[in-house]
Amino acid sequence: MSGNSEIELKNFSSFKIGGPADNFLAADSPESIVTGLKKWRRGIWSRRKKIFILGGGTNILWDDKGFGGLVLKPEITTLERDGAAIKVGAGVSVADLLNFAAENNLSGLEWAGGLPGTVGGAVFGNAGAFGGETKDSVSEVLSLDTRTYVLNKRNRGECEFSYRNSVFRRNRSREIVLEVVFSLIPGEKEEILNKALKNIEYRQARQPLEHPNIGSIFKNVQAERISPEVVKLYGLNVKTDPFPVIPTARLIAEAGLRGLSLGGAMISPKHPNFIVNVLNASSRDVSGLIAVAKDAVNRKFGVRLEEEILNLAS
Ligand SMILES: Cc1cc2nc3c(=O)[nH]c(=O)nc-3n(C[C@H](O)[C@H](O)[C@H](O)COP(=O)(O)OP(=O)(O)OC[C@H]3O[C@@H](n4cnc5c(N)ncnc54)[C@H](O)[C@@H]3O)c2cc1C
Repeated sequence: MSGNSEIELKNFSSFKIGGPADNFLAADSPESIVTGLKKWRRGIWSRRKKIFILGGGTNILWDDKGFGGLVLKPEITTLERDGAAIKVGAGVSVADLLNFAAENNLSGLEWAGGLPGTVGGAVFGNAGAFGGETKDSVSEVLSLDTRTYVLNKRNRGECEFSYRNSVFRRNRSREIVLEVVFSLIPGEKEEILNKALKNIEYRQARQPLEHPNIGSIFKNVQAERISPEVVKLYGLNVKTDPFPVIPTARLIAEAGLRGLSLGGAMISPKHPNFIVNVLNASSRDVSGLIAVAKDAVNRKFGVRLEEEILNLAS
């Protein structure tokens, strides 16, 4: 376990923002996680110290001041095929899982082409894109309770997946996703890789991947929350994600915020639901832009934007 200030969280975020972690534990088995948690608990003076579970760091805004608790990174790397099912560790990247599925002629994850992060993070937030969602092919999730050290096995229904949400997100910091079983269907390697590649190319063309970022800051807005007159007036397009939504990027653009900068952070002109770190942005710069976007969209459309990212800076 690493002690004070040794670990800079900006090195564990695709945003490249974040101060030091009080303690940091990377562990590659359930047993080493439990040992590390017990050791950490013995060493801390306050029961109120927090735990944060870290995946690939592609959806987190850390605070510049850092994190005053334990950052725990489960690095479980199981990757096994059993018929049309794949058992995979939470620490495996979604990209590696997708490649493994393709190598084994198993289809169902092509929507995830270009989705950054780990399997643990994808299950936690029921990540989705191009009409697909993580929940579509999850059949079982093994997790560990960080307080009781009890292992839980849940089927898909018990994971209570919904739009960018799951029981793990609701129990944040309490449960660590360890291993996931995906049930896939037989397919053709070339076809699987081609579909995934199309999604990767779509992202490369439309997302500001040239600057550090953490993906879309806000969830898309349910279409029913905006009146049909306003939708018509602004020519807003409704897309399926997986239910009818108005892209938040469009609302932020209509509010006139495309390219707005604060310190080193900027609302991406290319994709206004992304904030990009153009020049050593601080978490305060990003929080400021988040507040401006919420306010402007609320004034113009009467819609309260909901954050999709994990914001530890507010
Ligand atoms: C360029 C770009 C594009 C993106 N596009 C999309 C997209 O199309 N769709 C989409 O849904 N998201 C998208 N994202 C956001 C992000 O990639 C996903 O949310 C991803 O699933 C997060 O995974 P991660 O491993 O990086 O999680 P992290 O960012 O490390 O963590 C996110 C949350 O998951 C929790 N978590 C992580 N691992 C575990 C675990 N093992 N057990 C319990 N909790 C855990 C963390 O505590 C945290 O609360 C994008 C991000 C970027 C940078």
